[in-house]
Formats: sequence, C-alpha cells, structure tokens
Amino acid sequence: MSKTGIIGAGLGGLAAACTLAARGHKVTVFEKNAWLGGKAALLEEDGYRFDMGPTILTMPRVLERVFAEAGKDMSDYLDLVRLDPQWRCFYEDGSVLDLSQDPEAMKRTLADFAPGDVQGYDDFLKVAKRLSDVSDRFFFWKSVEDLKDTMNMRENMSLDTLRDVLALRMPRTVSEQIGRSVKDTRVAQMLEHFIQYVGSSPLASPAVLCGIAQMQVGEGVWYPMGGTRAVPLALQRLAEELGVEFRTGVDVERIETDQGRATALVTAHGERIAFDRIVSNMDSVRTYRELVGGDAWRDFEKSRKREAACSGVVLYLGLDREYEHLAHHNFVFSRDPEEEFHAIYDKGEPAPDPTAYLAAPARTEKGVAPEGGEALYVLVHTPYLREGHDWSQMLPQYRRTILDKLARTGGMPDLEERIVVERTLTPQDIHDRYKVLNGAIYGLASHGRMMGAFKPGNRSRQVRDLYLAGGSAHPGPGMPMALMSGWIAADTLDKDATSNAAAVAAQ
Ligand SMILES: Cc1cc2nc3c(=O)[nH]c(=O)nc-3n(C[C@H](O)[C@H](O)[C@H](O)COP(=O)(O)OP(=O)(O)OC[C@H]3O[C@@H](n4cnc5c(N)ncnc54)[C@H](O)[C@@H]3O)c2cc1C
Repeated sequence: MSKTGIIGAGLGGLAAACTLAARGHKVTVFEKNAWLGGKAALLEEDGYRFDMGPTILTMPRVLERVFAEAGKDMSDYLDLVRLDPQWRCFYEDGSVLDLSQDPEAMKRTLADFAPGDVQGYDDFLKVAKRLSDVSDRFFFWKSVEDLKDTMNMRENMSLDTLRDVLALRMPRTVSEQIGRSVKDTRVAQMLEHFIQYVGSSPLASPAVLCGIAQMQVGEGVWYPMGGTRAVPLALQRLAEELGVEFRTGVDVERIETDQGRATALVTAHGERIAFDRIVSNMDSVRTYRELVGGDAWRDFEKSRKREAACSGVVLYLGLDREYEHLAHHNFVFSRDPEEEFHAIYDKGEPAPDPTAYLAAPARTEKGVAPEGGEALYVLVHTPYLREGHDWSQMLPQYRRTILDKLARTGGMPDLEERIVVERTLTPQDIHDRYKVLNGAIYGLASHGRMMGAFKPGNRSRQVRDLYLAGGSAHPGPGMPMALMSGWIAADTLDKDATSNAAAVAAQ
C-alpha cells in the first residue's frame, strides 16, 4: 500500500482518490477551495439553484467504472435521467432543430429540415461510431502522451491495426470530416459543436474527435437529479466510505523532488508532507511551471507547444417565468460559425455574434427554481485570457451582446425584464477559482491535425512517482474524460507501485 497525496479535488482528483483507495492505497486530497468537485460547483440564491460549471453529462459508464472499483453500484449513489431531445438548436434564420438520440426519429426530422442530409447524417454517425470504437481500444483507459503510446506498432502490426490507423482519418479536421457527409450549414453547425466539449475550433482539430458525437448521441445525455453537482457529492461519499482524507482550504505550493522522484508536498502554510507518490489534478502546465520547476519543467515545456483551450462567460439568471419553447439543453447559434471560431481561436477576441448554450433544468427538475420560474444558465465561449483582457471592463458590454442575441435568436424578447437573480462567471473568475491555464474551461486546446488529440500523459515522463489527472491531462477535458483521467492516473500508479513492490521483494 502506498501513501499518495492528491493535489486538487476536481472530478479527476476525486476519481483518482476513489480508485486508489478502493485498491488499498492510503490517500490524502488537498483542495485549495472550501468545496470538493472543482468546476462542478454550486450556486444557490433566493430559491434558485445553478450548477456553476458542467451541465451536460455524457458517458456515465466512466463513472460507473469508478464505483465498480469499490464493488459499488453507481445507482445507489446517483439518480440519472436520460434526456431526449439531447439538444434543441435555434438558428439565426428562425429555424429550430432537435437533436434526438434515436437515429430513426432524426431521419424523420431531417427529412423535413434538410432532406439532402438524411443519408449524410447517418454516414457521419457511422464514422463517429468507428472513431469512438478505435479511441476506446487504443486511446482510452491507459496513459497516452503520443502516437507511440497508443499501440505497440512492432508487436501489433496487423491488417486490423492498419485499418484502425486509417480510420483515424489523419490529417483531416473535424470540419472537413463533417463537410464530407453533411451539406446543410445548420446541420453542420450543430455537429461542429460537439467539439466545443473540448473547447477547440472544429477548423483546427483532428477528425478523430468526431468520435465525441457517438459518445453523446449513441450513449446518451444524462441529468443527475440534484444537478451535475450530485456527481462530485456522490464521489465524495464513496471516497469517505473508502477512508480518503480530505483537507480543504489547503493550497499546495510545491512538489519536492529528490533524484528525479516526487517525494513530498509543501503547502502555502509551509507544511511539508512526505508521500510515496503524488497525483496532480491541478492544470498540467501549471503543475510543472509552478509546483515542480527546474529541469523537469524545462523539459516538459520543450517537449511540445501547448495552448489553453477556450474560456467562457456564464450568466446565471433566476427568472420569474419559464420559457416553454426551451428544452433542457439548448444552443442559440451564431449567424456565422467561421466568423465565431475565427474570433475566439485565431484573433483571441470575443465573438461579435456568439453561440449561447442554455440550460433550462426546470424542464427536468422543478425544484431548481421557485414555482413558475427558471434557473437559466447561459454559457458563451470566449478566448482564453490574453494580454489586455480585463473582464471587469469587458463584461457589461458582452452581457448586452449575449442578452440581445437571446432576445433575437433564442425567442426571449422579454428576457431582461424577467431577471430576478443575476450572477456571472468570467474567464478571470475561472482562472482564479480553479487555478487553470489562462482561464481555460477545458484544459489544453486540441488543435493540430496530427497531434491535436494528445495531451500530457498521466504518468509523468519528467518526474518519477508523479501522475497527472484532470482536463489538461490525457485523455482531455469534459466530465467523462476528466473522470477517466483520474481513473487512468490511479490505475497507472497502482500498477507501478505493485511492480515496484514485487521488484523490491525479489531482491
Ligand atoms: C462553465 C463550464 C461549463 C462546462 N460545461 C461542461 C459540460 O456541460 N459537460 C462537460 O462534460 N464538461 C463541462 N465543463 C468542463 C468540465 O467541468 C471539466 O472538464 C472538468 O470538471 C474538469 O475536471 P478536473 O478534474 O480537470 O478538475 P477542475 O474542476 O479543474 O478542479 C481542479 C481542482 O484543483 C484545485 N487546485 C488546483 N491547484 C491546486 C493547488 N495547487 N492546491 C490545491 N488545490 C488546487 C482547484 O481548486 C480545483 O478545485 C464545463 C466547465 C465549465 C467551467
């Protein structure tokens, strides 16, 4: 049994803690905030309840696997409801399209909406399924940093493997892949938004990420009763049952190393605690830059250029009315996706006419707002923090842009008059609350036709006995991926500890 310290109690940190404790390790988690769950935080005011960060839960099988580690059934901890339609899409021309999980229902919808794309949509989903399967086999559930980690080319080189490599469709982008199947710009805009789960531009991200469409459409969109916040609460309960120690309000300032091995944590209060192994759920770039430093950090920086994924502005609006035309999850799309992506990802400026994601959870759980009201969550993606971005100055004007957009394209002309409670989250808030890279919501950008999907691996190549978990480590951001990264970090650590113990015993 090894003594493990975990820095950060985001979803990745919690999944790692549960998995390690279930396998018999002694685990202490250090979290600088007062709550556990990181970005999956909660805001409650005057009878309105908002999930502050993630609202769309996909791939619950990842979470199930964490509970199964401890021999537990997830359904004893979480009540998940499957949502259909998965998203409702509102377009600038006034048209509305529901994304349904049922391919037959979708065919019927598209036969009216975009008759030329019925077959193309089906073709796209088949490609997405293939990409998701290949990802499951080669990319998920193990520590991966680059192509050579995904498969042992020399040992596994077979016709099947070659077919899988070809299926990755390198070096095509997400947009190019979608454009091969779908011609209607509105349908394409909807499909391009799957890539927003990783906060990156479809014009610059590799086609393999089209697999995300299967992970949502094929595996479902789920709402945990009690809100997304119920997920970290369930993990906290499991962790406590397994004996994990949580220390909240403790900021870790340094990872001590000795002869290339991580050996201890030093907190902002100057406390030094020795560990056999350390898992960092802090942003991976900042872990090396701020906690490790020295040659290991220089080596990490040199290994690859890394850029933050996008950030965002969230408006939490407590309303005194419901909007019956909204589904639980909605997108109010920009007039021009190229203009939008170019602004956010190339120019580093807020989009002049943005896409707004809206969650209206009262559709599924009445208790989120007073009778007849709505706890409306509005997320607009923005660039990560650049020099000169001062959101205390930028927010009032951008709030106006967002509310005008919702009034015009989202069918809510009286929205502003119906606001009873209003709170906001800006890129600067995200940066400060969660210690991320330049305010990024989704870790590191997935840009690059060949290498875009690869993130820093879960077993550090620079520091022995250091492991990385969370949205800025492999396999990437979003709830299921951050949870999986925690599981992988724990599994890798556990295997290393076991083989190390066996080697010592054999001496
Ligand atoms: C507004 C918003 C909307 C989103 N919507 C969705 C969505 O709908 N669906 C989806 O799947 N994903 C969504 N995401 C992304 C998802 O929330 C994240 O990918 C995921 O929660 C990240 O988990 P993580 O493990 O990386 O940890 P984080 O949530 O980043 O938490 C890391 C924790 O580590 C702590 N920490 C950092 N450094 C230190 C230190 N030195 N010492 C002590 N503690 C430290 C931080 O305080 C934090 O609590 C959204 C995110 C945001 C912000």
